[in-house]
Amino acid sequence: MDKDLRIKELERELAENKEQTESLEKQVCSYEESSANLKEEIYQLKDFLYSSTAQIAFLKGPDYRIEFANKSVIKVWGKGDDVVGKPLFDVIPEVRDQGIEDYLNKVYNSGEPYHARALPVEHNINGEMVKSYFDFSYMPHYNSDGKIVGVDIIAQDVTQQAMLHQKVRKSEKEFRGLVDFMPHKISIADAEGNSVFYNKSWLDYTGMTMDEFLDSHWTQIIHPEHVEKVEQELAECLEKGKDLDIELKIKDKNGDYKWHLCRAIAMKDDGITTSWISSSTQIQKLKEEEQRKEDFLKLVSHELKTPVTSIKGYVQLLQSILNSEKDNITKPYLHRIEDQIERLIRLISEMLDLSRIEQNELELHTEEFSLNEHVENIIEDIFHTNKDIQIELEHLCKCDIVADKDRIGQVIINFITNALKYSMDAKRVLVKVFYENENHVAVSVKDFGIGIEKKDLNRIFKRFYRVSAKNEETYAGFGIGLYLSNEIIERHNGKILVDSEPGEGSQFTFILPLNQN
Ligand code: ADP
Repeated sequence: MDKDLRIKELERELAENKEQTESLEKQVCSYEESSANLKEEIYQLKDFLYSSTAQIAFLKGPDYRIEFANKSVIKVWGKGDDVVGKPLFDVIPEVRDQGIEDYLNKVYNSGEPYHARALPVEHNINGEMVKSYFDFSYMPHYNSDGKIVGVDIIAQDVTQQAMLHQKVRKSEKEFRGLVDFMPHKISIADAEGNSVFYNKSWLDYTGMTMDEFLDSHWTQIIHPEHVEKVEQELAECLEKGKDLDIELKIKDKNGDYKWHLCRAIAMKDDGITTSWISSSTQIQKLKEEEQRKEDFLKLVSHELKTPVTSIKGYVQLLQSILNSEKDNITKPYLHRIEDQIERLIRLISEMLDLSRIEQNELELHTEEFSLNEHVENIIEDIFHTNKDIQIELEHLCKCDIVADKDRIGQVIINFITNALKYSMDAKRVLVKVFYENENHVAVSVKDFGIGIEKKDLNRIFKRFYRVSAKNEETYAGFGIGLYLSNEIIERHNGKILVDSEPGEGSQFTFILPLNQN
């Protein structure tokens, strides 16, 4: 009985052991499977690190023995593939004294990671030292007990970017050298118009340091009587992104104001203003010359006015005497003298107008008259003195206006005589009177002459401005006709438009509002 019991007990134990053995076998199987997976993952990770474009190396021990070096770092070192197991400075001894050993020691001894940007390192590649730039990270490598056992390196070759930065820095240095060398005052402002740079010429002129100048407001150095105008123009330029071109007085380090011509252009990216570059040139001497010219003209015109008017009187007297006699030889000459005197009188009155404008004394005497008839009469008068010309007049509307008849006549004469003067041989001029819109009437004068370059289109309305030295020699003039015309039309609340193509011809148009008192 005891024996049977014992057998059964043994059989049960055997069954239990079998169960345990089976379960253990299953566990072993599962361990084997996960170990194979792990091996596969480690293999993939190593493969990933090995083929990464970043330079990666794991260094072990105080002599930084290479435990792992990927393809990229092996290429940078340039000492062949057989590097694993060797101390780092046996493979690349040339970098030891370039600070690399110090960085590694610091990380190895302190456990503090070290990062550097665009660090230059020279490697000996086949006997030649090749300089490259790297972004670096050196990190301590810990074992399972938390002890530092090595240093891991990850680096990225940034040589191309570093070279580009160097080029940019070099060209910026050259640019600064250039603008400091220039006698012109150059400044740069951001998109909102806040200055960020002034060149040496500006600092020398104002006697301020760069920081003082940048901290001060530009209005402090501008003559008080120009501040409002500059503010208005600047606001318009900033709003519309258009170029600035203005004459104003700027205070120097002694507190004296000198005339400058200031120009600014918007630097744009995809049509959006990113900054402003401005140049200011001293034109004090030019202004003084202009003043002398103006004073001289004023003096001469005053002195000439009386004798010329009395010559005209005598000519008219002679004409009336001769009218009663049959002297056909003298009469035409007297007529010519009268025409020339008319021209002279016009010139003298232009000169006098100039000083009237300067002193704000140009008055308008308005009356109602037919613009068509006025234009017609003026053309007849011009034609009378010059038969070689061809002036075609087109009335596209009939219009009476309230304006200063003589002054409007002065503008028409200026447009037509300019059209003839700047036409060389092709003395053909087209004049049109038309409605610009329901509230405005216009007179345009078109010629087929030498034309005007775009850059000069705004400047020709400035006092004494004449297009170029070549023109100055070829065509006589003072450069005041258009200045006066512009003043006259502006005082009538109108405006002048000019459209011109060099070599093709020009069209000057004045537009006047209707129904003004
Ligand atoms: P001026 O003719 O006496 O020089 P204006 O003030 O009338 O003075 O004209 C200023 C400048 O504008 C001229 O010197 C000339 O260069 C240019 N200009 C004016 N009208 C014309 C035109 N019809 N064609 C070409 N250039 C012109």
